[in-house]
Amino acid sequence: MAQIKNIGVFTSGGDAPGMNAAIRAVVRTALYYDLQVTGIRRGYEGMINGEMIPMDRKSVGNIIQRGGTILKTARSDAFKTPEGRKKAYDHLVEHKIDALIAIGGDGTFTGAKVFGKEYDIPMVGLPCTIDNDLQGTDFTIGYDTAINTVIDAVDKIRDTAESHDRLFIVEVMGRDSGLIALRTGIAAGAEAIIIPETKTDIMALFDRLDRGRKDKSSKIVMVAEAEEAGGAFEIGRQVKEKYPNYDTRISILGHIQRGGRPSCMDRVLASRVGVAAVEALLAGHRNEMVGVVHNEISYTPFESAIKHHVDINPNFLKIVEILSL
Ligand code: ATP
Repeated sequence: MAQIKNIGVFTSGGDAPGMNAAIRAVVRTALYYDLQVTGIRRGYEGMINGEMIPMDRKSVGNIIQRGGTILKTARSDAFKTPEGRKKAYDHLVEHKIDALIAIGGDGTFTGAKVFGKEYDIPMVGLPCTIDNDLQGTDFTIGYDTAINTVIDAVDKIRDTAESHDRLFIVEVMGRDSGLIALRTGIAAGAEAIIIPETKTDIMALFDRLDRGRKDKSSKIVMVAEAEEAGGAFEIGRQVKEKYPNYDTRISILGHIQRGGRPSCMDRVLASRVGVAAVEALLAGHRNEMVGVVHNEISYTPFESAIKHHVDINPNFLKIVEILSL
């Protein structure tokens, strides 16, 4: 096994709070072990275009608390082609990068898996997505901040809902996963939660609303964006049709869920897995995601990390049912 001298680090896919904390941890750990570290801008797209910058202690100063990513991120269609990946590899060779750390979500690790089969370069990944939809880590970097952003917003919506006696249908992000909706629904005291992991039964929602306290003035229904019945607008339409007397409003929280200062949990998680990722490369790991399971560092092959679906805890659904009376 060739000795690693220069680690390339990049962020890829959707941005998530804590990406900067992860970059900082990787750069400082590499320097701690007397390695060089090169930042690759704009994820795989920047790798293809040769956007490489040397990183030092100072280049990651004062970023642990910042949202977004100083390396920028991108979605790259070119990397899905063999020609694109060949260009990317040629740039790595040109810049003498002999190992990679990818910070991203399932798409990023799908790309990493493909790249790892074609080219002989050690690569490990850090789970960083607000969706929390990866196997092999209890939480992904960015999820904790995103769910706190959601409950902050829903608490405010609840003030309006309460003042005007309104029903709000609130749509949150999560791609194919209902994990954000489920957890924030519990935390914000939602009357009902609609997620893609369970079959949407609009009659069950009506039943839930009928059974709810008649004197309760505000109601919140949390809906995950990938929900099969068509998301908040379609559910809102059906609710309005069934209950013309309810003052029903729809709120799509959108991109505010991706931004902002990372929470303490996300900064600590990013720091832990960032340090562990560099150490994993030095210990010979490759094609694995470095996560935390039951408070211990764990290594999961990319192949398994991206296996959908992360299971929903059925107790959580029961909790909503009990507590929304
Ligand atoms: P998030 O879940 O937060 O959006 P992500 O990492 O899943 O993050 P994607 O946009 O799905 O984000 O993937 C990031 C990039 O990974 C893609 O733009 C593409 O360049 C690369 N990628 C995804 N799938 C493949 C694939 N099958 N082959 C090669 N590259 C891929």
